[in-house]
Amino acid sequence: MKERIINLLAAFESENIGKSFPLDYCLPLYHSVSDEELSHIKHVIRYKTIKQFEDDLDYLSKNFQFVDWQEFKAFTSGNFKPKKKIALLTFDDGFREFYEVVAPVLERKGIYACNFVNPAFIDNKDMMFRCKASLLADAVEKNKTIDPEVYRMFSLDNHVEKGILQKKILSVNYQGRAVLDELAEKIEVDFKAYSKEHQPYLSSEEVKELTRKGFGISSHSWDHPKYGDLSLKEQMETTDKTFAYLKKNGFLYESFAFPFTDFEVKKDFFDELFKNEEIYCSFGCAGIKLDSVKRNFQRIPMEMGESGAQIMKKEIAYFRLKKLVNKNMIIRE
Ligand SMILES: [Zn+2]
Repeated sequence: MKERIINLLAAFESENIGKSFPLDYCLPLYHSVSDEELSHIKHVIRYKTIKQFEDDLDYLSKNFQFVDWQEFKAFTSGNFKPKKKIALLTFDDGFREFYEVVAPVLERKGIYACNFVNPAFIDNKDMMFRCKASLLADAVEKNKTIDPEVYRMFSLDNHVEKGILQKKILSVNYQGRAVLDELAEKIEVDFKAYSKEHQPYLSSEEVKELTRKGFGISSHSWDHPKYGDLSLKEQMETTDKTFAYLKKNGFLYESFAFPFTDFEVKKDFFDELFKNEEIYCSFGCAGIKLDSVKRNFQRIPMEMGESGAQIMKKEIAYFRLKKLVNKNMIIRE
């Protein structure tokens, strides 16, 4: 129902979103771009093809002025007057395609981007649990027979459709992630061998090279937990450890993007985070939305199975709707 109203309203949004966009900054968020089938993310992220990504960039360029990290900081502290509303391009998770596919496109177009990475996965030492879940869901789809024990582990009858089993696998959370390793044995997926063969993540050499080329490599926590599920102490441990890693290696340690979402993250975390005066701001991904924590900026997820133009129009329409009922700001207590 909500989706239908937003779609309807979006149809009335003007083409000139540079004008109608309700904030003076636009923060698009991507994870990967590829023309290939990436089994480790295809069930969890609707990544775009190179053509779709370039179309998004061209559309955004018409309406916004892309900025780099220094310009973004200057702008948000009132020291930079852009010609148009600004856009800062961001990527999360540090996937290899950022080096191989995205960076060449951005260099050609002269656009900066920052990638928020998890040091635990650099060099493919490990894989995020969501990627493991995607690989398992993929194997369930492709395998002819599945060990009945797999169904039992989720208390499912082994006559249910594969889709139901896939959904269960894809709903495993960070705290329950050990079950994915057990499942891998039974479904005959070898995460280590897959990592070695496909190298899903950036290598240390690549993140250094990206930094030399002028791109940002920043913090997305150590290994991608959902912050809303962690205690303040755990939140700070994973944040501080990543900050130290970035600083030691000469990466962009001034910012932090929440893994998954900042939903249910309370004010006490931000108070603690910004005690570190070297951290300039943090990023969520709730779409066009304001935040009672002024230094926490919300980004727009661009991998929703639609064109950048359609996503922007829907976001603008949705923001307008929420504004009517005073729901366009996240309040943290
Ligand atoms: Zn992430």
